[in-house]
Amino acid sequence: MKFALFIWILSFQAFGTNIPRVFLEKNKNQEWFVSFEMTQETKQLGFMRNPDGSRVKRWTSLDPNIELIYRDGKEYILSKDRKPFTSVKFRLTPTYIALPKEYAPFSRYSDGGILFHDARFQVCPLECKVDHKYLWNFRLQIPPNDLAVVHGKLRKKAIAWQVKDDGSLIYVGKRSPRRSNAMLSIIDPELPKPLLDALNNELPKYMAYFAETMGVLDTPPSLFASFEKIKSNSRNQQGGVLPGQIFMHWTGPNLDKVVADENAILGLKWFFAHEAAHVYQSPSVSLYDNQHAWIHEGGAELLAYLALQEVTPSAKNYAKKRYSVFVSKCRAKAELVDLKDATKKGQFKAHYDCGFLIHYALKASLDRRGGSYYDLWAKYRKAVERGKEPGRETFLEIVARETSKGFRKKIDDMINNTAEALPRLLQ
Ligand SMILES: [Zn+2]
Repeated sequence: MKFALFIWILSFQAFGTNIPRVFLEKNKNQEWFVSFEMTQETKQLGFMRNPDGSRVKRWTSLDPNIELIYRDGKEYILSKDRKPFTSVKFRLTPTYIALPKEYAPFSRYSDGGILFHDARFQVCPLECKVDHKYLWNFRLQIPPNDLAVVHGKLRKKAIAWQVKDDGSLIYVGKRSPRRSNAMLSIIDPELPKPLLDALNNELPKYMAYFAETMGVLDTPPSLFASFEKIKSNSRNQQGGVLPGQIFMHWTGPNLDKVVADENAILGLKWFFAHEAAHVYQSPSVSLYDNQHAWIHEGGAELLAYLALQEVTPSAKNYAKKRYSVFVSKCRAKAELVDLKDATKKGQFKAHYDCGFLIHYALKASLDRRGGSYYDLWAKYRKAVERGKEPGRETFLEIVARETSKGFRKKIDDMINNTAEALPRLLQ
């Protein structure tokens, strides 16, 4: 064990010597800047995460010789005269944008508070290697009247931490977080009242339900819910999780009208339970495998279905209706694509619709054998924490052990030959 740890630290250092230090700064005039500082010169910096080319438009170099370019689907920092450099600084645009399959870089609260994603600033000399475990030293400087929430802790002025993997969301603003036993939260008070009520009353109950059934988390999770009333007609709702964190963001006008309808509120409660389920599926390690997103997305849909029925009695009929919707949607998707190809063929939603039905059948099979669907998640999580590759093989190995080889085959058929296998799954 000690030997393994030693190797791991060494490998970080061997690759990590010239990994840029990141310095993010918010000044008194509400302007945001980022600098990257290195100990050795480089001719180019490449970003770890490249959802699109939006940094090219939204970042302005303070040095006219430094430019950002978008090439072959990736963003790079270069000097125009192609001479090497050791530091660069950019002015940022700290407003919300929706990035494809990625966390928003900045989400604004109605009072100007900001939630940012620290992994947006992961850069490497030349290129980042996608499968390499990097570690970035990150510093944040904020004005004296602001506070920051970093990894569940309240911080002031100058703060330092290390960023790895998918990073974290960091809050900067004037609002102190509310702490309860189960959660630390910063919720925008300008959200419409029915939505606020559902967030304040229902979400903690879903968290408590999952803590009871799937195990208490080592550190209480954080919830960030922000709302930016903008006049344009574009309305947006985004939610997601990172280890130990849930975030939700709304932009656009007339949100109060949108949530006036009771079905819309039930839909929101489902969405809250779904996000809460992700936190308990994976509190510290990432279990996500996008090709087989039916594992975590289908699983979160089933966990939402169970939590809603258990915690919100008025949602029982709604949850049952959702079951029928999943059946018809999965049928329609299965005509277009097999689950194994859903991600690359642009049918990502199939992972939710058909994934829900796989998990529904899986739970029924476990129940018949006296097993527990919640324990299955704990076993999967432990297997990944012990070094197993997250994804289909590890998950299905555990499924076969806890149910039977025959049931595993049913799932394999759903993945490879969805339209044909679906009637057998529903039997
Ligand atoms: Zn999800």
